[in-house]
Amino acid sequence: MRIDLVSEHASPLAALGGVDAGGQNVHVAELATGLARRGHDVVVHTRRDAESLPPVVRTGAGFAVEHVPAGPATAIPKDELLPHMEEFGERLAKRWAEDPPDLVHAHFWMSGVAAQRGAAGTGVPVLQTFHALGRVKRRHQGDKDTSPPQRIELEAEVARGADRVIATCSDEVGELTAMGLPRERAAVVPCGIDLARFRPDPRGVKVRARPRILCIGRLVERKGVDIAIRALADIPGAELLVAGGPPASEWDDDPEVARLAAVARQAGVADRTRFLGQVEHDRAPHLYRSVDVVVSAPWYEPFGTVPLEAMACGVPPVVSAVGGHLDTVVDGGTGLRVPPHDPAAVAEAVRSLLARPEWRAELSAAGVERVRARYDWSELVQQTEAVYRQVAAFVPGGGAP
Ligand code: UDP
Repeated sequence: MRIDLVSEHASPLAALGGVDAGGQNVHVAELATGLARRGHDVVVHTRRDAESLPPVVRTGAGFAVEHVPAGPATAIPKDELLPHMEEFGERLAKRWAEDPPDLVHAHFWMSGVAAQRGAAGTGVPVLQTFHALGRVKRRHQGDKDTSPPQRIELEAEVARGADRVIATCSDEVGELTAMGLPRERAAVVPCGIDLARFRPDPRGVKVRARPRILCIGRLVERKGVDIAIRALADIPGAELLVAGGPPASEWDDDPEVARLAAVARQAGVADRTRFLGQVEHDRAPHLYRSVDVVVSAPWYEPFGTVPLEAMACGVPPVVSAVGGHLDTVVDGGTGLRVPPHDPAAVAEAVRSLLARPEWRAELSAAGVERVRARYDWSELVQQTEAVYRQVAAFVPGGGAP
């Protein structure tokens, strides 16, 4: 099949850890790679956000990335991209009128707006993965939510207009049906892990003189890194590594970095907190394997790749009991789940893991097993492809099998 993925802000070629570059970029890159490996002709459409980007890049992984001119060729925060989606959609419409794919899969709501506009009248089926939902974001972030005010309404339209919505966790399906999506048009395929890269340390669980905790991800407030920093005050002797954040050139001006550094000072743990900045995704497995516990304590989490990467590397995660974490982390089985917004609960969970290396080894082994059994990208690409084939078979004129 010729499969076109649309990912307006999240390029599969981008460096990760910045405010708008995280799990979606990894997801799109892995899906495109896996589909190409299975013999499909895959094109990813992403916004051209730098003058230096060529119109088309053929990746070594066998898929193409087309840089779509929509708005200025500069970085724009994703919450300011909506005005450019009309142009994005028009470009797609032109491209697909000349050379239609068998199927389109849009990632994030704005890609859905552009993709559905681009595919209108062509008979090409459009599938949707949201990665995050505006109504959930608004519920948790309230006034701090910088999404465009139309988001919630447009998102519901995108859900209803899609031929199928592929959710990444069961919690999301409840939200989607509340938005008016008939249950039979929702499928669940979680995000996966590249098991060739994210592997445990063959030497097993270690006991270090100075225990190490890791937080890795985009440095945005809702990711709850401050909760891990506050927890550190009650985890004597441990050090906390924080990976992610803006590129080094913007580090000193970043308000979230300044806020987190202030939290570390106030909590009296500045000397035990190390900000590493962005870590190349290829280096992430090595980083995971160098720590004893990973903490991921977001306020809410549409999926949450980080705990799975930790489990794949044999490191038990301590996570907030929200969203995708409820599916991925077995409490007391592969990691520990704690209430959100609760540094004391994080500290207690981490201390209990650090105090019992043999228990950590059990959780570690069970975590590796769980990720292998359920979250192998190659298996999930096949599940996604099965949804594609179902949809292509039902849409008149859509998708050759
Ligand atoms: N990541 C990375 N380097 C960094 C920060 C993050 O490679 O400096 C990766 C991390 O390994 C994970 C992704 O970014 O694969 C974050 O995904 P997650 O689903 O946890 O959060 P999201 O960013 O999608 O909200």
